[in-house]
Order: sequence, then structure tokens, then C-alpha cells
Amino acid sequence: MTSPEHLLHRRPVDINKISLTEWDDFLRHIGITAGSRSVIYKSVYFEGIRDIRDIPGLSGDEYHTLEESLIIPSSGSQGLLKSRDGSMRLTLKLHDGHLAETVIIPEWNNGTLDKVSASISSQIGCFFGCSFCATGKMGFHRNLSTLELLDQIRESEKIIRDEFGCGMTHLYFMGMGEPMHNYRSLSEALSITNDNAAPGPPAGRITVSTVGLFRQIRMLADDHPEVRLAVSIHSADQETRYQIMPVSARLGLAEIREALSYYNRKTGQTVTIQYLLMKDVNDRQQDAENLASYLRNIRAGITLIMYNDVSESGMTRTERERWNTFRNVLTGAGFDTDTRWCYGEDIEAGCGQLKVFSENDRVSMSMRHGSGLRSGKPEQHPSGKPE
Ligand code: SF4
Repeated sequence: MTSPEHLLHRRPVDINKISLTEWDDFLRHIGITAGSRSVIYKSVYFEGIRDIRDIPGLSGDEYHTLEESLIIPSSGSQGLLKSRDGSMRLTLKLHDGHLAETVIIPEWNNGTLDKVSASISSQIGCFFGCSFCATGKMGFHRNLSTLELLDQIRESEKIIRDEFGCGMTHLYFMGMGEPMHNYRSLSEALSITNDNAAPGPPAGRITVSTVGLFRQIRMLADDHPEVRLAVSIHSADQETRYQIMPVSARLGLAEIREALSYYNRKTGQTVTIQYLLMKDVNDRQQDAENLASYLRNIRAGITLIMYNDVSESGMTRTERERWNTFRNVLTGAGFDTDTRWCYGEDIEAGCGQLKVFSENDRVSMSMRHGSGLRSGKPEQHPSGKPE
């Protein structure tokens, strides 16, 4: 952490480059009162105000001091694509020109809107290069700041309210990047959304997904026990897992399992295990038996994910019969399973498809699907869903 005294010599200070604690200390050191700090915090983090003069109720001296001392970078909407199935892909242009992608997914049950979730990105690109994932093929560019995470939440909330007339019901840290690899911003965003007045759903409806960074799983259990955890296992065999997730060289399955057990004990919550089924890679009966054995005595529900074709991955979707056998092995071993259907495949917003579009991609996609919002229920889901 940088000391506030040191920051005083580096003014103006970019809010994206310091932690929440540093920011509060810094404002105190430049003479902003506790009451004004609270107003500034809510204006910037909750309401998304970026122009210091738009923050209400500060003294003339405080506006002047803040303008000299603080940079608050802003993000703007770059576009919104809507899928045939009703899901949406929001692109925010960040202050440095990078694009952050967010996916909004409405789900209907018997014609009634049941759930509207947002899945936000935590990094530009990703360090870990999983073979099935379009984001991994971009390479790693940078972490998103706390403010940039909140910008995605707030913008999604606005779109959901405009389009569906309700608030966001669930939030997933599951877009581009590995959220646990950006732990400080993740943890600060979770702390901020914990306040009822902040955008986003309550903590019990927030899920953080990870490839299994076991130290951070323990930290999350300690720091945010109310938040839900989803871990992508994709194979319970170390060698197979390494082939599809190179990060497995540093993330042993045994250590991940210990972290899952810690999460169970510390939070009292069930962990969600995510398993992306890929034909002839990890979809055999033996793979299901390995998974059931690996998770013995872990309180876990298992989400089976339909693979979305990602160009150059060389992998394909598993067949219906194998899918059913796989699921039956797990339910036979006593695990609850559910299925995550892929949404937004036609706008490349499905599981593992997220990557930043080039401008040409975006134009061609807008022409194919229309870039404006459309109301009403989605057309029939385009996926071939197994029975
Ligand atoms: S699946 Fe997650 S961790 Fe793996 S490359 Fe994609 S974004 Fe990164």
C-alpha cells in the first residue's frame, strides 16, 4: 500500500491505481471532511458520477481541492447486442480504449420472467489460456479496477430496469478473465455491493467463479463468506485437466479439493462445480466416475455446461447420449446436477466465447442481429438441448 503522504506528492492521483483504503486516507489527508468523504464515495461508486462538480453538497474549497488532486476515469457504453434468445452483450469502452464485455441473461419460466442476471468481466483478456476459451486466446492485458467492475454492474442494472422493469436478480463474476487473479478489485467490489444502496443484488445472489486458485478461495471464504463460489473443474484427472487448462500445472487438484472443503466449513455453503463437457475429451463414463470420486465428502452441486464452439479450439460439443450417461453417474452418486444452457451464442456471448470484438466484428454482428434492444420474450432457444 502507498502511504497517503507519498500520494500527496503524486497529485493528481488516479482513483483506479489506489485501493479503497488508500483513497479514503488520501481524501482525509487533503482535508476532505468525513461527511464529504461519505458523499463522494456514494456519488462515485454507487451512482457513477465522474465529474467532480456533479458531486452534490461539497464546499467550494473541497471542489477545488478535489479537482487538483483526483482523477476519476470514466467508461462509456460502446454498444449493446441482443441475441435471438433474449440475452444481451454490453460493451463498455474504458478510459484507455480497452473494451470490457458484460452479458445479461433473462430467464423465463412458463412465460414469466424468473431471473435476470449479469455476468461481468474482471480482466481484459486472461493469463491462463484455457484451450476451450476465446478470452484465453487474447492473452492478458490488464486487470479491471474496482470502479470498472462497478461500472459494469451499474450499467447492466440500468439496462435490466429499462428492458424488464425489475432489478438484477443475480450477479456472476464469470465474464472475461479470472476474477480471483484480480482479488483486490474483486474484494473491494464485493464489499461495496454489500451496501443495500449500491447497485447489484444482495451478496447471497452473487457468485464468483474461478479455475481453482486455492489461496484466493480461502481468502474469499474468510473475507466474504456470504458470497457463493463456483469452481471450474472440467476434469478430475490431473493430466487431462492440464491438457485443457494449462494453469493446472500450478493448481493441483488435491489442493483445490482442500480449499473446497475449507469453503464448505468456513461459510456453511455448498460450492458449485462447473464442468464443461467436450466430446472425447472429458465426457466418458470414467470421467464422471472420477469426478464423483474426487468430490466425495465435499458439499457440492454440479453444473454441466454445454460447450460452445470456439474457433481454433479443435473441440466439439458432447453428444446427447453421453451427456445423459454422465449426468446419471453423478446423480447416482448423490450429487445435485443442473445444466447451464448457453445463451447468446449468435452474439458470441455464450460460455467460453467472450472476447473483445474488433470494430469489423461488431459491425457485421449488428447487421446480422440488429444492435438495438428488443422487447418481449425470446425466440426459441437455439441450442440443441439434451433431454
Ligand atoms: S476459462 Fe476463465 S481462466 Fe480459463 S482462459 Fe478463459 S477466462 Fe481465463
